Amino acid sequence: VVRASRLVRRFGGRTVLDRLELSIAAGEFVALLGRSGSGKSTLLRAVAGLDHEVAGSGELRVPERVSLAFQDSRLLPWLRLLDNVVLGLKRPGAAARGRKALDEVGLAGRERAWPHELSGGEQQRAALARSLVREPELLLADEPFGALDALTRIRMHDLLRELYARHRPAVLLVTHDVDEAVELADRVLVLEDGRVARDVAVDLPAPRTPRDPRFQEYRELL
Ligand code: ATP
Ligand code: MG
Repeated sequence: VVRASRLVRRFGGRTVLDRLELSIAAGEFVALLGRSGSGKSTLLRAVAGLDHEVAGSGELRVPERVSLAFQDSRLLPWLRLLDNVVLGLKRPGAAARGRKALDEVGLAGRERAWPHELSGGEQQRAALARSLVREPELLLADEPFGALDALTRIRMHDLLRELYARHRPAVLLVTHDVDEAVELADRVLVLEDGRVARDVAVDLPAPRTPRDPRFQEYRELL
């Protein structure tokens, strides 16, 4: 569903994306690793269509329904939770879909809460609900769990896995965390020098645990 070819992005004199190639199949879960400053967020913004300066002598093809999630949940502080989740959705039926989505992420009953009344983890759950209620064909996420404590992060992994199995969007998840990538993704990419330097298919049965020696092998490949 995603096909990007020869993407180029320069900031001043620096080339951050250098004729980058990327494709993602329908329903495929792809994790994107790379050092800080390697251009992960830049690539995600480009794929999201938020960067009009990205030049490609090739092409960028993405599906019509794309959702984007960030490290901070970006809930609007002046809207209650349900209104945040259904913002921009067409009525009728929006509220019912929003309630269902909040239920799916374990926030049933919190529809009328204000964002500041939620913990960081709960805010990220709400952000996931907001992403999924749009039934995206492609879910883009930029370190969505980066600001959470380790325990909450593990819970969020379980939740994301469950939601992914149910809705099956294609996913491009940016993360710093090699374990998170190997645990969740079908394929892990490493961004380096403006290109996808490594592209590793992860073929491990569930449940994937870092204690599995084969998990370690993938970790070392990346
Ligand atoms: P991190 O892991 O720290 O989030 P990243 O891989 O997401 O890093 P990007 O945010 O994509 O990295 O940035 C890649 C490079 O492009 C960095 O060197 C950054 O300084 C530069 N850059 C990004 N956005 C801009 C901008 N708007 N103006 C100038 N330089 C930018
Ligand atoms: Mg980034």
